[in-house]
Amino acid sequence: MSIRQLPSHLINQIAAGEVVERPASVLKELLENAIDAGSRHIRINIQAGGLQRVELIDDGCGIAQHELVLALTRHATSKIQVAEDLEAISSLGFRGEALPSIAAVADMQLASREAGAEHGWRLDMCPGETPEAARPEAMPQGTRVTVDNLFHQVPARRRFLRTERTELGHLETLARRLALSVPHIDIRFSHNGRELWHAPAAQDEATEESRIAALLGDDFIANAIRLDYEAQGLVLRGYLARPAFSRAQGDLQHSYINGRYIRDRLIISAMKAAYAEVLHYSRHPAYLIYLEMNPRQLDVNVHPTKQEVRFQDGRQVFDFLRRSAQQAIAAPVTSTLGQPADGEVADEHQALPVAAAPAYRTNPAFQYQGSANRSNLTPELGQALYGVAEANNAVPEQLNIDQQAVAETPPLGFALAQIHGVYILSQTENGAILVDMHAAHERIVLEELKARLHGARVQCQPLLVPQTVKLDRVSADRAEAVLPLLENLGLELRRASETELDIRAVPTLLVDYDLPTLVSDLVADLGEAEADDLHRLEAAIDRVLGNMACKSGSVKAGRKLDKLEMNALLRKLETTPRSGQCNHGRPTWIELSMEALDRLFLRGR
Ligand code: ADP
Ligand code: MG
Repeated sequence: MSIRQLPSHLINQIAAGEVVERPASVLKELLENAIDAGSRHIRINIQAGGLQRVELIDDGCGIAQHELVLALTRHATSKIQVAEDLEAISSLGFRGEALPSIAAVADMQLASREAGAEHGWRLDMCPGETPEAARPEAMPQGTRVTVDNLFHQVPARRRFLRTERTELGHLETLARRLALSVPHIDIRFSHNGRELWHAPAAQDEATEESRIAALLGDDFIANAIRLDYEAQGLVLRGYLARPAFSRAQGDLQHSYINGRYIRDRLIISAMKAAYAEVLHYSRHPAYLIYLEMNPRQLDVNVHPTKQEVRFQDGRQVFDFLRRSAQQAIAAPVTSTLGQPADGEVADEHQALPVAAAPAYRTNPAFQYQGSANRSNLTPELGQALYGVAEANNAVPEQLNIDQQAVAETPPLGFALAQIHGVYILSQTENGAILVDMHAAHERIVLEELKARLHGARVQCQPLLVPQTVKLDRVSADRAEAVLPLLENLGLELRRASETELDIRAVPTLLVDYDLPTLVSDLVADLGEAEADDLHRLEAAIDRVLGNMACKSGSVKAGRKLDKLEMNALLRKLETTPRSGQCNHGRPTWIELSMEALDRLFLRGR
């Protein structure tokens, strides 16, 4: 066979193989074009899961009559002109491939009216046929692209399409995802003539939240913490679901960089790291985050679907994401209940002291019952209680909550009763909550241990007689690599032999623990940590502390608490970071709002 140039129709059909895989990929290209055209309203009309029709109508800038044919030509684009433009791409498209590729594998009608034009123009095309001349069309400003019978001339591809339902699922997911990237655009999605959803344009925080609710569900937004952080030229906005609203899959993870939907491993793992402490390892966090950064520090032209990116400084982005998200999740319950936390979340350790003059101290309605069996208290709880007694100076007579007299109910309310020695029932402003005593206390103890250990002054105590830990050689090598880091945390180790480490000093807090076990746990948990991988080291230490908190000190289920103790626990919980979960990721408390209770009892209000 001799070498011949392929006809352009065939070239486009081959190219279509890369761009157009299914109806959802057609919709993606059309939506991106409508967004690039500056539209404010977009309508999506789907017929039969897109197998029959994918249509998009926008009110963007439109295409001039004389450019209609050009728009359908390969490598023709209005979005970039010179090579430098590639370095800072601000539009979604730039390859000039979508329209010609789609037209090669489906019947397409392109109708458009430019601003200022007297009427629109329309082109009808079928694969392999030369398009007729454009005809006048009565239409408002904007563009309408109708794509019918996808792949009807490419049976091999058509066979790969799934059922109507499956394709509709892909179409919707795609449309929701893109809609989340453009809060200022009103988007309607219809299937077979029925409107499935409508995402109105957001004007302010409240309308933004209702838009997100329309796109991701009411539950997500009801359980979300607002994010707003800025540092080193990076801006992070969005919503994080509280850990209790975790998912079995990573299906509710939406991330955007400079307005573009991105599914990147660096982002996913930074977010996973942020939730590591509050989520069971088998659960996935839910979030919607928008990252803004200098486009020059980012390469989006890595992948044909542009979902992966390359960062100039990946480490910086990773740390920024992890830290910001971690801080938002850690914000104590007082600042996340009711109104969302903003970026001003105080350093988590500052939140620990019970110094914020909680209502119970000054409130006359809150009085002491008298017979707390102190000897039975854990040190933490005892401290909290003595704190109360000291602040009050006089020990009140009767613990009695008179709701009328309570001026301001604290976020977690006042304890009413203990249920089977396991749960505390507390009445709150909105209804009631049930607290898992053991889980709650475990979190409190853990956060205190951490705050003290990571605090500025680690109290360190040399051991009179060094203790020895036996390890295998690989682990001993690993530990040796991070000795200076451990020393910063007050843990002084020396290599004693091939397989032994001597423990010479430990943080005072840890003196009473089984030190060799603690160190060997720590080393095992470190895994392959690099010498400068402070994050990994901190995480390993936190895990060891978590186990300690669980085994020691924590209130075991089944112990009787009186109201004063219960309330002390609630107040402590309010000011503890990450207090919504125990360190195994189980919730520490759940809310039974009056609304939820009313619904339960079918009581209308
Ligand atoms: P690209 O988006 O990569 O430029 P396309 O093949 O998707 O390539 O579109 C080609 C050109 O057609 C675009 O550059 C744009 O000028 C024009 N165009 C496509 N869709 C629209 C639209 N909805 N509104 C206005 N112009 C459009
Ligand atoms: Mg395009």
